[in-house]
Amino acid sequence: MTTLDDKATEFEELRRADALKMRKPNGPEACGACLNCGAELAGDLRWCDQDCRDDWQARRGVCVGVAA
Ligand SMILES: [Zn+2]
Repeated sequence: MTTLDDKATEFEELRRADALKMRKPNGPEACGACLNCGAELAGDLRWCDQDCRDDWQARRGVCVGVAA
């Protein structure tokens, strides 16, 4: 039997999944190098770290609502 609590949990999980999807800022695909400083990166990383990402976003004037 499904209780109201179960429904609430289900809803929260859906919302969290959506939020995670939304967090990925729009932009170019990973190309193996930091989009900000050009350092080599492994996998699908697009920036070395948060600083590089922030720099890049600031320069492009991209506002993705990330307040860290
Ligand atoms: Zn970098």
